[in-house]
Amino acid sequence: MLLSIKNVSKKYNNGTNALKNISFDVEKGEFISVIGPSGSGKSTLLRSINKMIDISQGSILFEDKNIESLKKTQIELVRREIGMIFQSYNLVERLTVIENVLHGRLGYKSIIAGILGIYSEEEKKEAFSFLERVNMTKYAYQKCSELSGGQKQRVGIARAIMQKPKLLLCDEPIASLDPKTAENIMDYLKKIVTELKITCIVNLHQVDIAKKYSDRIIALNKGEKIFDDKAEKLTEKM
Ligand code: ADP
Ligand code: ADP
Repeated sequence: MLLSIKNVSKKYNNGTNALKNISFDVEKGEFISVIGPSGSGKSTLLRSINKMIDISQGSILFEDKNIESLKKTQIELVRREIGMIFQSYNLVERLTVIENVLHGRLGYKSIIAGILGIYSEEEKKEAFSFLERVNMTKYAYQKCSELSGGQKQRVGIARAIMQKPKLLLCDEPIASLDPKTAENIMDYLKKIVTELKITCIVNLHQVDIAKKYSDRIIALNKGEKIFDDKAEKLTEKM
């Protein structure tokens, strides 16, 4: 078992119950979509898994380690194994595409090393190989601020993969993109995580996309898990 969510609840300080007694297990290699309307708790769930926020009740086990009981330095180690892709891309806009991908390896703390360009030849080679996978090598030396949304998200994928994560969490990765670009991004994402055997959890609000790309769908509504099964079992009314 890669990840085990056990009876997790999250109540924000303002009293919002964003997650209510959520439980599920994730096996290595699964591609799971989490669906649900805006405000259903999808983002809270992902942010709990990578410890960006603390849960109120329950436990989250990553590779059998209870992440709630980890010390700060241990949390950093777990985070290194968990990649993130965001709706807003979260690239460093003034840096080039290749610098952003290299930054994935160095981690969030090492922006200074990134600015100074301290990378090994091996790392650079690897970064280019990941750019190639998302068909972005010809933009390698362009600043991210000059890219379209779809191009930015392709860089976002390459950066996340550069981290060599065991688990990849994608928070509404296509919500800012037009339908055609959105499918293009899902195609790249699905292909890469399948080839590299990376376990993936993707928050989506489009049910059709979730059905097309994922093996398993978890549906949330008002913080409750209302569906968790193979994608093809999901009925139309959801
Ligand atoms: P989704 O990702 O499905 O849109 P979220 O996890 O963002 O859902 O939000 C779930 C609920 O928690 C919503 O009611 C939202 O308003 C609330 N919420 C999210 N973040 C915070 C926060 N930092 N403080 C208080 N309430 C929050
Ligand atoms: P901090 O000192 O605030 O922890 P970091 O450089 O670790 O600063 O993180 C910067 C931002 O990126 C924060 O919003 C943090 O929550 C987020 N972050 C850090 N590590 C990860 C990660 N592995 N996945 C996703 N977000 C992360």
